[in-house]
Amino acid sequence: MELDNIGLSLIEISHRSKEFQAVVDEAVQHVKDLLKLNEDQKVLFLQGGATMQFCQVPYNLLDEKGKAAYIEIGSWSKKAIKEAKLFGQVEVVASSGDKNFTYVPKNYSIPNDATYFHITTNETIHGVQMKQIPESPVPLVADMSSDIFSKPIEGSKFGIIYAGAQKNLGPSGATLVIVNEKLLGKVSRSIPTMLDYRPHIKDGSLHNTPSTFAIYVCLLTLRWIKEQGGLQVMEKRNEEKANALYAEIDRNSLFEATVDKPDRSTMNVCFKIVRPELEDAFNTFAKNNDCVGIKGHRSVGGFRASIYNAMPLEGVNKLIAVMREFERQNR
Ligand SMILES: *Cc1c(COP(=O)(O)O)cnc(C)c1O
Repeated sequence: MELDNIGLSLIEISHRSKEFQAVVDEAVQHVKDLLKLNEDQKVLFLQGGATMQFCQVPYNLLDEKGKAAYIEIGSWSKKAIKEAKLFGQVEVVASSGDKNFTYVPKNYSIPNDATYFHITTNETIHGVQMKQIPESPVPLVADMSSDIFSKPIEGSKFGIIYAGAQKNLGPSGATLVIVNEKLLGKVSRSIPTMLDYRPHIKDGSLHNTPSTFAIYVCLLTLRWIKEQGGLQVMEKRNEEKANALYAEIDRNSLFEATVDKPDRSTMNVCFKIVRPELEDAFNTFAKNNDCVGIKGHRSVGGFRASIYNAMPLEGVNKLIAVMREFERQNR
């Protein structure tokens, strides 16, 4: 695709050109609008994935003698906790590890003396979603990799939000990070330049060469979200898709949802088959009927239908029809 009649495409131009600057500026503006951010919240497109944020967050916020609070509701929060422990004290306020991460703990208290409270709003592998953002006495840090832009949120409530682009936003290679500037500059350690949020803020995500193509595709997705009517419309569609699929799982005699009803994710629908000897057969049957990629994550097994913003209702209805037919053939 040629950009503004300059005879070159996005991946052929300099990341310092005014054409690419316009791409970043517009993408940042859409993020600010959609998430209702305030002036102190800076929008960055970084690299290293959400996994890099597991260490970049504590590197920038958590002093050696300080304490951070985390809630553990699945594999991703577990990884975030492991990294934070390299930098300071970590208090895990609650964990659903006792039941293999099939629910979100509800009764816990967040220590007032923590530097921040880290949550994972949607646990992609286990299909568990925090439907309510907890009220926190300390700055909230959220890994929203797998449910950002799936529904409206009050973005200004958060100290840091981060998300790998590849689930709901664009191709892999870009990581959206939103940082409240007021939280920075308080740790005593020195931070390597690339891991310090401040140079990235100062240079508007252009401290070094960013992932230009990935950011451009993120921009197209952000425009699309707005054109469709914004996050309210995304939420309505996502609920419609998830409700239809969970209703079929609950109805179908062969399948069972793995997550407690109130905590079921609208993005990653996890389920298992009640006759385990049919597991491989269903995977093959689904694949042969154009439902690709429903095998559960290797660490939990079963099935998982990831129905991000990009999945239309027709795709979900297709899977439902395949599940019905499989039930009919295996009575
Ligand atoms: C996918 C995912 C990650 C890891 O993202 P990378 O960009 O691959 O580092 C972290 N957290 C959650 C919730 C995810 O879904």
